[in-house]
Order: sequence, then C-alpha cells, then structure tokens
Amino acid sequence: MKINSKDSFKSLKKIKVNSKIYNIFSLKEAEKNGLSGISKLPKSLKVLLENLLRFEDNQTVKKQQILALKSWLKDKKSKTEIAYRPARVLMQDYTGIPAVADLAAMRDAVKNKKKDPKKINPLSTVDLVIDHSVMVDAYASKDSFKENVEKEFLRNGERYSFLKWGQKAFNNFRVVPPGTGICHQVNLEYLSKVVWSSESGGDIYAYPDTLVGTDSHTTMVNSLAVLGWGVGGIEAEAAMLGQPISMLIPEVVGLNLSNKLSEGTTATDLVLSIVQLLRKKGVVGKFVEFYGDGLKNLSLADRATIANMAPEYGATCGFFPVDEETLKYLEFSGRDDQIISLVENYSKEQGLWADDNIIFSETLELDISTVVPSIAGPKRPQDKVLLTESSKLFNKSFKENTKRDFSKEEDVSGEKFKLKDGDIVIAAITSCTNTSNPSVLIGAGLLAKKAIERGLTVKPWVKTSLAPGSQVVTDYLKKSGLNKYLDELGFNLVGYGCTTCIGNSGPLDDNISEAIKKGNLYAVSVLSGNRNFEGRINPDVKANYLASPPLVVAYALAGSMNIDLYKEALGKDKKGQLVFLKDIWPSNKEIQNLILTSINADMFNKRYANISEGPTNWKDIKTSDSSIYNWNETSTYVKKPPFFENMTEKPEGFKKITNARPLLILGDTVTTDHISPAGSIKKDSPTGNYFMQRQIQEKDFNSYGARRGNHEVMMRGTFGNIRIRNEIAPNIEGGFTKIYPEEKVVSVYEAAIEYKKRGNDLVVIAGKEYGTGSSRDWAAKGTKLLGIKAVIAESFERIHRSNLIGMGVLPLQFKDGFDRKKLNITGSELFTIINIAKGIGPREDINCEIKYANGTIKIIKLLCRIDTTNEIEYYKHGGILQYVLRNML
Ligand code: SF4
Repeated sequence: MKINSKDSFKSLKKIKVNSKIYNIFSLKEAEKNGLSGISKLPKSLKVLLENLLRFEDNQTVKKQQILALKSWLKDKKSKTEIAYRPARVLMQDYTGIPAVADLAAMRDAVKNKKKDPKKINPLSTVDLVIDHSVMVDAYASKDSFKENVEKEFLRNGERYSFLKWGQKAFNNFRVVPPGTGICHQVNLEYLSKVVWSSESGGDIYAYPDTLVGTDSHTTMVNSLAVLGWGVGGIEAEAAMLGQPISMLIPEVVGLNLSNKLSEGTTATDLVLSIVQLLRKKGVVGKFVEFYGDGLKNLSLADRATIANMAPEYGATCGFFPVDEETLKYLEFSGRDDQIISLVENYSKEQGLWADDNIIFSETLELDISTVVPSIAGPKRPQDKVLLTESSKLFNKSFKENTKRDFSKEEDVSGEKFKLKDGDIVIAAITSCTNTSNPSVLIGAGLLAKKAIERGLTVKPWVKTSLAPGSQVVTDYLKKSGLNKYLDELGFNLVGYGCTTCIGNSGPLDDNISEAIKKGNLYAVSVLSGNRNFEGRINPDVKANYLASPPLVVAYALAGSMNIDLYKEALGKDKKGQLVFLKDIWPSNKEIQNLILTSINADMFNKRYANISEGPTNWKDIKTSDSSIYNWNETSTYVKKPPFFENMTEKPEGFKKITNARPLLILGDTVTTDHISPAGSIKKDSPTGNYFMQRQIQEKDFNSYGARRGNHEVMMRGTFGNIRIRNEIAPNIEGGFTKIYPEEKVVSVYEAAIEYKKRGNDLVVIAGKEYGTGSSRDWAAKGTKLLGIKAVIAESFERIHRSNLIGMGVLPLQFKDGFDRKKLNITGSELFTIINIAKGIGPREDINCEIKYANGTIKIIKLLCRIDTTNEIEYYKHGGILQYVLRNML
C-alpha cells in the first residue's frame, strides 16, 4: 500500500539498522510535536497510533482521531472511531474458500459492467493456509497420516483446485498447501516478522507487523508482539480490498503476571485459569496486555498458548510486548539476522520494548505460581475444573445433563468390554493452542514413554490421535525419540491440521457408535483444543473436556471421566503394582532438558524453505490460467455466490421491517457454531436431502466447513446444529421451528422458504452474547440468505455483530431491562421496526412494535447496534462487499 501521510505531528524520520536505512513514523517525534504523554500508552495502542500516523490522509484518518489516542490517557477509554489498516490478512481454507469465491464473483460482476476484472485483487498481502479440512478417518496406525491425506485430497479436490486457480489469478495472494501446518502456528513460526517493511516511493518503510485473520485464534500471534485478531470473512475481504477496519479505540486491561509456574503445571493449566479470571472480569471488546516480572518466566510458546485463547476469555486480543524472549524465539525459529536486528532496534526506538511504565484502563494481578492442574468443560472453555475435582464435577454435570442419577452400560458388538456413561471415546492431541508449545508436547511424549515402560495401555474404546500444528513438531518428537512411545499408545500422526479441534474428529468405530446410540450413553471426548461447544467435536459425544496434551494421554489411559486421577490408579504395571498419574508425570526439568537437545533453527529453515510447493497430490492439481473462474454448474463444493445478483447501481438504503415473524427464539450464549455448524452433515436434514437428490452418498457429504463454497448447502445448514434449542419448538433439539399461524413443526430451512413464499419478513430473537465463538462469516451470510432482516438480542459478540452488518442484517439490542422472557415472546408475535425506512444513526434508539396473537400491542425501545458511521454505509449498501464493489465500479 502506498504511504502518503499528511504527517501533522512531524513524526517521519530515518533510522539505520546495520547498514540499512528505514523510514519510520516515530512515536518519540510525535510526542514532541503535539502528542505529549503517549510514551505511557499501552504497547498495543502504540501500534494503533503508529498506524494512524502512517495513514493520516485527512479522509479516513484525521488529525482528530490521532489526538484521540492522546486523550485516551486521560479517560483511559474513548468513544472515537478510528480507521485501522493492518499490514496483512491471514486466512484458512474454510473461510478462505468463500472469500475467494466472493472475489471471483466480484470479477464476474466487474466484467458484466464491461470493466477489467483484473481490477479486483487483494491490495494487502494475503496468506491462505489450508489446514481445516483434514479429517481423522484413520487413526492408531503407522499409515494413518497417509490414508487421511489421500482421503482429504479425494474429498476436497474441487475446493483445492479452486484455491489453486486463485493462487494464480490474484496478485498478493499466497496459498500454503495442505499438510504444512495450522495457520496460527505457521504464522508464528514463519509468516510473522514482528516489524514489517515495504517499499513506497523509492524508500523502505518499517512499521509494526499487524494483521487480521479469518479465524478467531489469529490472536495467538500477539505472543510475538504482532497485533492481530479474528474478523469475519466479510471484514477480511474488505481489508484485503483496501478498506480500513473501523473500530472504537479500545480499553486496555493490563494483566500483571508475577512468579513462575509450579512443578507439574502446564501452560494449558495457566491459560484455563486466565480464561476464568478474565471471563469473570469481563473483557469483551477490550485489549488485554500482559506485563510484569512473570513474563521473563514464560517462554514464547507458553505466551502463544495464552494469546491463542483470547476469544475464550472474550478479549479482542491478549498482547505480549517485545522483549529478549521475542528475539530469542525469532532466532530459534530461524528468522533472518537483519529482521532480528530490525525488531530490536525498532521496538526500542518506538517504546514498544517491554517495560512497566504503562497507563492501562484497568489492571489485574495473577501470581502464576498459584495455578494448579485443571481441565475445562463439559460445554464451555471458561468452565474450569480443578483436576482434583474433575470426577466429582463430571458426575454432577452428568446428572444435570442426562436427568439420570444412575449410570448405564451397553454391550459393544465383537468386544468383551461394555461401554459406560462417562467413558472417553476420543482423546485427541490437537489444536494450535497447544501443539505449538514444545513443553506440553514433549511432556505428552515423556508421559507416554513412562506409561509404556510401566506396561500401561490405552483403553480399547478410545479413538486416539496426534495432529500437530506444524511439521517441526514431528521433527523434534523424532529427534527426542518420543514419537515411538506416542505411536505405541495409538497417538500416531493423523495429519497437520485442525482435525478434532474444528469437529473433524472423523467417525467413531461402528460398534462404539452403535453402543452409544443404543444405550443413549453420555460419551466424552478429551482434547487439547480450545473449543468444546456442544455438537462441535463429534455427533456421538455429549461432553467435551479441554486438557493439556499430557493429560489427554493420561485420560486415554484411564478411559473414563469417572476417575480421580489423584487418588485412583491408571492401571497395574507388569509386576501387578498400581500405577498412579504422579508416577508417570514428567518433571519440568526432564521436559526442559529434552527441549534443549531436540529442537533447533535448522528444523524450521528446512521445513519452511519450500512452503508453497506442497505434497505431490497438490502439485498434481491442474488449473486454468483465466482471470475469470469457470464455474462448474454441477459442483456441490464451489458455486457462484448470489450476493451480487441484481445489484442496483445505487445503494438501496434502509428498508422496511414490517410484521416480521420470529424464525427462532434462542437463549443465551448461542454460538456461531449453533448458527452455522462446521461439523458433520446429518442424512435426515435439509442438507442431507439436497445431497441425496444429487446422488451424493452419506459417506461423501463431508463437513459443513468443507462445503462453505456452496451457498445452497450453507443456507440449509444455517441454524441446523444438532444441539441448538429453539424456544419456538421447545420439545425438539436441532434446527426446528414452528410455522405460524398453523404451528406446524418443520426445519428452520423449510420454514424460511415457506415464509419467503408468503412474503413475510423474518427476525431472530436471542439472549445474551449472541454469536459468541468462532468468527464465522457463514453465520451472517446464512442468516441473510434465509431472509432474516434483523436479529434482536440482549447482547452481541463483537465479530458476529459486525458480520451481520457486513451482510446487511440489522443487529438490535433489547434495552430498559426487557428481554424475550419479560416480554413473553413465544413465536406467534409480529415485529415491526417503526420508521426504520427513514434511516437511523449509529447506536441510536428505535421503536419496535410487538403485536401479540391475542391482539395486544406493545411498543419497546431497541438500541441499534450499528456502531459506526462506516457501518451505516455498509448497511445502506446491503453489505460491505456491495459497498466495495460499487466504489470500484
Ligand atoms: Fe482454530 Fe482449532 Fe484450527 Fe486452531 S486448531 S485454527 S483453534 S480450529
């Protein structure tokens, strides 16, 4: 992007690093020239300030917005909206496919207007890492990896060939092929530079490396002082097309970490404690920044685990400043010497180097030596469970969730064992949260080694898997010799990708699945991931626990959640002696010694040398050289999205919402996974019918995540999560509703189609934290395609709220203490948003008329959750993509 700042604060200067000269927008100079005091801003806000100084154009970025960061120091918060331009965009394939499909459809639209389609290109660097599609079909064998990769390419051939077309057709667009690693780990280990540099007007400019990503856990890279967070695919597309991200200057909560982790605790235990602490505090919409003495005792990998789970603690990001550990990691992961020198010099020059002389909005303290081993579950990552209490609390939640106080068991065909409530059927070492952290992976390997040496084995009903975030993990597990013990326990490599963490746990063995279904057993999964929402991991599993990789191995040995790992033995050794967890738990020293001797920079250099080449299956994919995509009408994976069909020259503005029917009435904490599931597709569902009509067998359905290039599938799957509960049809779980006035129970999709025929507007009514969880653009796109005009909720999750606007759906918030229960909304009412067609400003109140079935009418006030003037423009255009396209034409 061209740099052409007005530079009102005379901050442009040159610095020399080794023999190279860089232009920088100096915060020290800006402080001297009108921004007094800004050296005490949180480091994360300094990154935003530098961005505004660099892009001051008096249109999107005005002097007043820059001054607002100075004023922030007084109030420690701000109502000022700023236009922020991150340096790059990171995508994964689930969200990347629809983004590339939208770009391809935009090229079609430009061509139809007789203009050059090549005008449509990303303007900032975009990296798309294909990591979300690999599934755990084969496991616990030496060929598992090979078999899963083969199946992955078979299932995803059409999608991958589309992405390969995109790689050739668009400028500034790099694809990291399947089998390389998980996007956040690849970002941490390779893509991130901490300080970015680019050429503009013949000069080299250096500035902080910043990004937005289409995956919520983009936050992981804040561990490396790279400011980044997840946005919806829609916002990311706008960012890559040169639109600034509009945001309010956030509050920044400082979390002062002191001391160091005690023996026997892991970074996973620490992050689960931080999640609970910050959830209690409430940091939604805020930045969290870590500081204090404890930082020096946290490796970069530990910081990555903490930064990764920012969406789980609710913050926009969890930022760590640059310090010696950052430089050490850059060196250790094979980064270039010049980059390392630039990072050190630039950070010290700009006041981005760690110190404690910072003014935060608020501060919190955590003595990390007080952290004890923990897991989280069975439904939410913030529900921390101390390991000492895990079996007791499991039992409690079992009773609550099953409404049974007795345990059942069921025969398993062809086996001597019976399967019981509480048995663990999936134990997965998965997810970028933990697999980028050598201490927990080496820890898991050491625990496996000690278990084997004592003669322990994994219980036969457990599906075990190891899916590291990068190939470097395989290298160090091999070098340390621990891979063979993990293999022996069944934790063979199954793929480099998200696998179980995104719901691609693959089917359970038929006999296990049958026993669960027959006995309606309360089966459990334990995974080293960061998400455990209902219905996400596997359709046969009802309770999901997050745990560190060593604990995942321990639970696989135990085979049940009904065990107190402190008091009960995992099994007997060869001499008949009881073996307890404490007997095989590795010490911190053992782990550290192995890390020192098993990992080196060469491993990173070698693995990332040819990052865009990919495996043979990738190289073999043939694509066309055309700038326009040749859509295949019969494809069930990639279809031309309908968003630009019949697009008018001028924006349509605000439209009426009159006598709208509620399509769903939902409770609190409805996740984007409930709205648009990523996992498996049921045969007896609208999507299953769609496939059956096209002669696609159930085994080839693939997942919703993999089908995001087909809006027909995604529409049918919207609100189709098997665990969603719609209060309109309270007696049935899954995506069902009642059509009014006849009160017939049908699928949400069928109801939407029927209401469309009748010309009814539709709304969704919801509780608190609507749209929490992953940043999923299809949760908003699907809502739009079902014909829903507005969502009325008690509160919204940040990304989903902006995605709704990005798709032209109006987010409205209950106020004055009203909610669906106090208003006695059951599904038979009609909603009119009064005078909406006249327009509304950001965060203004608007009246809503509720007409009850008995004729009563009530008028309540709602808060318009279009928060900024930019968002108003997007909404008036019918969405952000239409806004960008109209501006380009
Ligand atoms: Fe997201 Fe899990 Fe994949 Fe990480 S491993 S990118 S958290 S789905």
